[in-house]
Amino acid sequence: MAGTRISRRELLKKGSAAAAAAAALGSRSAAAQGGPAVIANRTFRAWISRGAGRGRTTLQDVRLRPISGRQVVVRTEACNLCYSNVGAVLGIQAAPPAAAAAPPPATTNQAAVGLAGVNANAMALIQGHGGVGIVEAVGPEVRRVQVGDRVCVSGTPQCGSCYHCLRGRADVCQLLGRNLPSDLVAVGDLRDGTPVYSNSHIGGLSELMITFEEWVVPVVTKASAVDLGMVLSCVSVAGLGATTTGTLATVAPGSVVAVVGCGPLGLSAVQGARIAGASTIIGIDPIKVRRDLALKVGATHVLDPNVEGTAIVERVRSLSNGPTNRAWSGGRDSGGRRSGAGADFVVEACGAEFVKPKLEQGPDPTGILPMQQAYEMCNAGGHLVTTGLVRGTIALPAFLFAIGGISHSGGQAGGANPMRDIPRFVSLLDSGQYNAKALVTRVVPLADMLGAYEEVAYRTTVTAIMTV
Ligand SMILES: [Zn+2]
Ligand SMILES: [Zn+2]
Repeated sequence: MAGTRISRRELLKKGSAAAAAAAALGSRSAAAQGGPAVIANRTFRAWISRGAGRGRTTLQDVRLRPISGRQVVVRTEACNLCYSNVGAVLGIQAAPPAAAAAPPPATTNQAAVGLAGVNANAMALIQGHGGVGIVEAVGPEVRRVQVGDRVCVSGTPQCGSCYHCLRGRADVCQLLGRNLPSDLVAVGDLRDGTPVYSNSHIGGLSELMITFEEWVVPVVTKASAVDLGMVLSCVSVAGLGATTTGTLATVAPGSVVAVVGCGPLGLSAVQGARIAGASTIIGIDPIKVRRDLALKVGATHVLDPNVEGTAIVERVRSLSNGPTNRAWSGGRDSGGRRSGAGADFVVEACGAEFVKPKLEQGPDPTGILPMQQAYEMCNAGGHLVTTGLVRGTIALPAFLFAIGGISHSGGQAGGANPMRDIPRFVSLLDSGQYNAKALVTRVVPLADMLGAYEEVAYRTTVTAIMTV
C-alpha cells in the first residue's frame, strides 16, 4: 500500500487538497480493510450557504456520499447558533469601524478566496460549528467512536500526533487551520449534482454532521440534547476551558476574576471561575439581561460599561481590593500609579458586533476598547485570556505591557483539550456545577434556524440551541 500512503511531511508542508483529503480520508479503502458497510445515498436536510448577501443560506435536501477512512457520520441532536458564524449564515457584512486604522479582517470565507484559488462563496457549504449527536456510521479506520455512541462534534479537532497536540496544546491542533475550501472534502450532493461540503469539516446546522474522527469526542451522559448542546458548544467549551483547565493559566481558589462580555462564552467563564473557587467574580456587559444572568450563574458583582465609562478599570481594581489595602497585611494594592489591586485573572469575551444590537449597545462595536480595558484590569502578576473576535488593532500602555507583570494568552477554545476536557465538562453538567438551563434562552427546531439566528445576531437572545 506504499503507493497510496501520504507522508506527514507531505501533509504538513503542502497542505494541498489532495494531501489533506487523502490523509483525512485515510489511505486504505473500506473494501481493502473489510470494514463495516456504511450508509450512502441517504437524503438529509441541511442549511446550505452559497453566494453572497442576505438569503445565502437555505434549507436543502442533500444526498450523502459514501464515507471511508476516518470519516464519521453523526445524527445531530443539538447545536448552538454561534455568534461568530452570524456573517456566514445570514450574509451580513460587518460595517468597518468609523476611524479604521486597518481594514476589517476578512470573514473566513473571504479569506479563503485567492489563498487557495477557490471561492468559498461558490461552494455549497453546510454551516455550523459542530454540535452533539449519535454516531450513525464510521469509516473502516475509525477507532475513537462506534456506531451508537453519543458524541460531541467539537469545534476544535485533536489529532493527537501533531506538534501542538504532542506538546499538550491540542487547543491549537494543526488540523484546526485546515479548513480552507481546498482542504474540504465533499460529503454529499444537492439535487442538481452540486457537491456539498461541511464547514470546517464539521457543519452542524443539519440533520447529519459528516466529519472526521479527529473532531469527534465520545460522551457518556443522560443529559438532555439541549443541555448537552449548550455545555459542549464551541463557546461554552472556550469559557470553561479558559477557567477550569489550567492549560493557559490557573484560576486559584480565593482569587479575583473579571469577565468582560457576558454572552454564552463569558457566562461559561463566570461559571468556570465559580467552579474553580474564585471568591470575587465581576461580570461586565452592557445588556441588563446578561448581567442578571451573570449574577444568577456565579458573578458576585456586575458592571455596565455604559454607566462606568472609562472609569471601569478603576472600578474593577477597587472591587479587587478585599478587606484591606495595606501591603503586608493581605492587601493587594501596588500603590503608585496603579491604585487598587486589579483582577488576578481576566477573561475577555466581548468581540466585535456584526450588526447593531436591538438591546443595549456597548461602548465600542469593534470590541477593541473592551479588550484594551481587559488588559488594564489585571493586577501585577495577573493573567488575561482573550477570546473575542475583534476588528482593528489594539493599543496598550507600553510601560504596563513591558514590565507590568501581566501575562496574556490568546484563548482559542480557551485552551481546552477536547479529548481530556470535554468529558470533564459533561461531568460538570451532570453534577449540577454547570448551569446549562440558565444559558439556554431559545430552543428551535431545524426548520426555524434562520429566525433564531437573527435573534442571536441582534442580541435579543443570549443563546439559541437548534434541535433536530
Ligand atoms: Zn463557534
Ligand atoms: Zn493535532
